[in-house]
Amino acid sequence: MLWEYSPSPEATDHVRIASRYNLFIGGKFVEPHSKKWFETINPATEATLAEMAEADAEDVDRAVREARRAYEKVWKKFAPSERAKYIFRIARLIQEKSRALAVVETMNGGKPIKESRDIDIPLAAAHFFYYAGWADKLEYAFPNRNVSSIGVAGQIIPWNFPLLMAAWKIAPALAAGNTVVLKPAETTPLTSMMLAEIMMEADLPPGVVNIITGAGATGAALVSHEDVDKIAFTGSTEVGKKIQRALSGTDTKLTLELGGKAPNIVFEDAPIDQAVEGIINGIYFNQGHVCCAGSRLFVQESIIEPVIRKLRERISTLRVGNPLDKNTDVGAINSRAQLEKIQELVDSGVEEGAEMFQSSCSLPAKGFWFAPTFFTGVSQSNRIAQEEIFGPVLSVLTFRTPEEAIEKANNTPYGLSAGVWTEKGSRILKMAQKLRAGVIWANTYNKFDPASPFGGYKESGFGREGGLHGLAPYVKLS
Ligand code: ADP
Repeated sequence: MLWEYSPSPEATDHVRIASRYNLFIGGKFVEPHSKKWFETINPATEATLAEMAEADAEDVDRAVREARRAYEKVWKKFAPSERAKYIFRIARLIQEKSRALAVVETMNGGKPIKESRDIDIPLAAAHFFYYAGWADKLEYAFPNRNVSSIGVAGQIIPWNFPLLMAAWKIAPALAAGNTVVLKPAETTPLTSMMLAEIMMEADLPPGVVNIITGAGATGAALVSHEDVDKIAFTGSTEVGKKIQRALSGTDTKLTLELGGKAPNIVFEDAPIDQAVEGIINGIYFNQGHVCCAGSRLFVQESIIEPVIRKLRERISTLRVGNPLDKNTDVGAINSRAQLEKIQELVDSGVEEGAEMFQSSCSLPAKGFWFAPTFFTGVSQSNRIAQEEIFGPVLSVLTFRTPEEAIEKANNTPYGLSAGVWTEKGSRILKMAQKLRAGVIWANTYNKFDPASPFGGYKESGFGREGGLHGLAPYVKLS
C-alpha cells in the first residue's frame, strides 16, 4: 500500500427509500395486478433496500394503454415548445436532487459514489437538457423533411448505468413527441422510481412516462405488446437477439445497444503513463460493468514490458471497497449472478493457459466483489479475448504493426467502441477509418457527451443514442 486513506463515507441519512414501490402508471403509483413483489438489495452489503412490484402482462397492458391515451389526447397535441418546458423541468429536478440520486444509485448498483456523483447523475441531467433544446427545433434537425412523432415507445434498460440509461431513452423520445413505457433492470430499479417521483413533481401529464418494474418476463411482455410502436433495448446480445426475433415480421421499430469487447490499442510512441491511466479507467471504471469497457488491451511489442509493469503497480493502488466511500475506485459487482459469470470466465482464462495478475487488495466479507485482474499471454482464440466479461478483467495482447493491430482489434463479433493511444494524429485518423467500432476515443477513454452519438456495429447492435442521431429512431420522416 502506497497510501492509507481514512474512511470518508457519503452520508445516507438524507435519503428516503420507501419499503415498497408500486408501478408508475398513468401518473401515479398503482399496485400491480400480479400482486407480486420482489426484493432489491445493496450488492455491497446484501441488505434489502426495498420491495418492488413485479409487472405482469396485464400491468404492461395497463401501462401501454395509459401511454397511448396520453399520446393521442395530450402529448401529441402540445406545442413542441410546451413539451420542451417539461423536459427542462425534469433536467433541473434531477440536478436539484442529484445528491440523493447519486447515493441511491450507489446503494442499489454497487458503483463508487464518485462515479454516480460525477458521471451518472450529471450526465443524466445533461441528456434531458440537451434533448429539451431539440424539442422545438426538430425541423432543423431534419431539414426539408416533415417530422412527426411515432407514438408509444417501450424501453428496456440494463443495470450498469440505471438513471443514465433511463435518461438516454426517455429524453429523446419525449423531445420527439412520443410517450413512454420504461422498464428498468430488476437489480437496479430504485433511481427509476425516484425519476417517476420527479415526473410527478414536474407535473408531467399523466401517462406520458410510465415506469414498470419486473424481470425478463415483464420486458418480454412489453416487447410483444401489439400497441407499442417502437422498442429501444440496451442489454445483452443474447436478449437483444431474442427481441429481434420476436419483432421480425412486425412493423414495430427497433433499436438495440448490445455488448462489446472493445480494443484499447497502445502504440510505442504513446505517452505511457497517460495511456496506463486511460486503460485503468477503461476497464476498472464501474467494475468493468460498461458495454464499451476497454476489455482487450493491444500493446505494441516494443513497450510491453513497461506497460505491464506500470499496470501492475497501478492496479495494486486501486482502492476496492465500500462504494459509498468517496475514495473508492472500484465498487461492488452488481449481483451474485454477475459475479459468478465473471469468475467462470476468469477460470476459463487460467485453464486456457493465460497468466493472471490480480490486485492483492482485501475484499469485504459480505457482498459481491472481484479484485481488479489482468491476463497476459492471451491468445486471440481464448474465451477471455472473445467473450464479454462485464467485470474488472483485462486481457492483454500484443502487436507489431498498425495493420496487425487493426486485424486483431476487429476480430470479434462486436464493434461498439475502441481506443487508440499514439502521438501521431495521422495514425489516429487511419485507425479510426479501419476500426469497426461505433465510437473511437483517441488518447482518452470512456468520455461521454449528450451531443455525441453512441452505438455499435455488428453484434453490438444498431441505431444510435445521443446527439442528433439519437432523435432519428423516435421520429417519422416524410
Ligand atoms: P444483463 O445480462 O446485462 O443483465 P439482460 O439483457 O439480461 O442484460 O437485461 C437487460 C434488460 O433486459 C433488463 O431490464 C432485463 O430485465 C430485460 N430482459 C431480460 N430478458 C428479456 C426478454 N426476454 N425480453 C425483454 N427484456 C428482457
